[in-house]
Amino acid sequence: MATAVKSFPRVRQGTILVVEDELRSQRLLRVNLEPLGYRVITLDHAEGVTEAVEAHAPDLVVLDIKLPDADGFEVCRQIRALSTVPVIIVSAFGQPADKVRGLSLGADDYVTKPYDTIELSARIEAVLRRVQGRPPSPSALFHCGPLKIDYEQRLVTMNGAEVQLSRTEYRLLEHLSLNAGRTLVADALLARVWGPQYVGDYASLHLYISRLRRKLGEDAHASRLIVTRPGIGYMMPSAADMSGPFQERAR
Ligand code: CA
Repeated sequence: MATAVKSFPRVRQGTILVVEDELRSQRLLRVNLEPLGYRVITLDHAEGVTEAVEAHAPDLVVLDIKLPDADGFEVCRQIRALSTVPVIIVSAFGQPADKVRGLSLGADDYVTKPYDTIELSARIEAVLRRVQGRPPSPSALFHCGPLKIDYEQRLVTMNGAEVQLSRTEYRLLEHLSLNAGRTLVADALLARVWGPQYVGDYASLHLYISRLRRKLGEDAHASRLIVTRPGIGYMMPSAADMSGPFQERAR
């Protein structure tokens, strides 16, 4: 990555053992994971993997399937025989049968090569969160005035009370909130929430916006959570845009 992080966080997130014979992949993983606070140990052979798992007690193993001295599936089986450490298999073999084989050997995830290193880093963090029961990252929550959205639970509350939304209403609200602070053009909203074939169907969009406002307890002409941009589209304010009067009204 062009934007290298110079100072590493003090909090150690854990140790990751990368078993991979391609040096470029090893290096890319190290460059992406170390700034996130992970200690990265690399091995380019199958030999020594089980010893490394015992010696370093890694929090997660990234395991390439095509290793010079052994089949990674066999290595996965050996790891599983001695440890419950999460394993993410990376493999150029993307056939469903290979994935099934890897997962049935106890791998926690299976990523097909060539992979995006940032995506793999995100999957590593997701597996670790799941295994360690870590709380979801703050970005999984949206908070604006009286409105709260928990994206993982798909839970919407206003002043703490749950708001029941249809699937489409939720998708619309989700999209608006994920882009809070930016005006979304009506056609872009239609394409993202309903599909490209709905571009131009402004009547449906207006209908859903008014339903959403009603369910959020807002007046169509004085809505503060879903602002109309005449002739353009809609916008949800970012949390920083919400001023005092809203908080007072919300109480
Ligand atoms: Ca390889």
